[in-house]
Amino acid sequence: MKKHLLFLGPPGAGKGTQAELLSQSTSYLHLSTGELLRNEVELGTDLGKQVKDIMNKGKLVSDQLVLEIVKRNLKKSNKGWILDGYPRNLLQVKSLNDVLRNLNQPLEMVFYLDIPDEVLINRLLMRGRNDDNEETIKTRLKIYKETTEPLVEHYEKLSLLEYINADGDLKTISADIKRKMA
Ligand code: AMP
Repeated sequence: MKKHLLFLGPPGAGKGTQAELLSQSTSYLHLSTGELLRNEVELGTDLGKQVKDIMNKGKLVSDQLVLEIVKRNLKKSNKGWILDGYPRNLLQVKSLNDVLRNLNQPLEMVFYLDIPDEVLINRLLMRGRNDDNEETIKTRLKIYKETTEPLVEHYEKLSLLEYINADGDLKTISADIKRKMA
């Protein structure tokens, strides 16, 4: 069974939900950079204050800040881990590689959750998070297409990519993920 996993896909594709479900059934660590950043904002920490406005605009937080968070939380563990929302650009891919080389725990599989734009926009509007208004959704999708989507090809070339049709019901999608992990 693969133990070092990553979820890739546009905002609203269900990465967080699927990563959480998988984490519950495997007891792997679920590391969501978005979730960790939102916690910092809620707690009103210095870091939270620095990132709040950027996040509410739907823009990306600085690579350096996010890398610090990943390093702090991604501990060497025999249990395994699931990354969700990181990396989001090619520089972060490189940083992650370095971190994982030091841990001696290479990435084993990347789940690419694919879903049509119109489904995404409706899902995000329904979700109603602080950064889920029409304006920020547009920004986030644009940034995703420009800076994050190229990662799909990158991981495909490394033969790590598993394509998941994320336009369906939760259980079908999680069953598909589990089947591909085995
Ligand atoms: P998410 O929950 O993954 O959609 O992340 C919510 C927000 O947190 C994003 O819109 C960014 O502002 C910030 N964020 C999360 N992960 C990253 C990352 N890897 N790099 C930069 N910003 C991030």
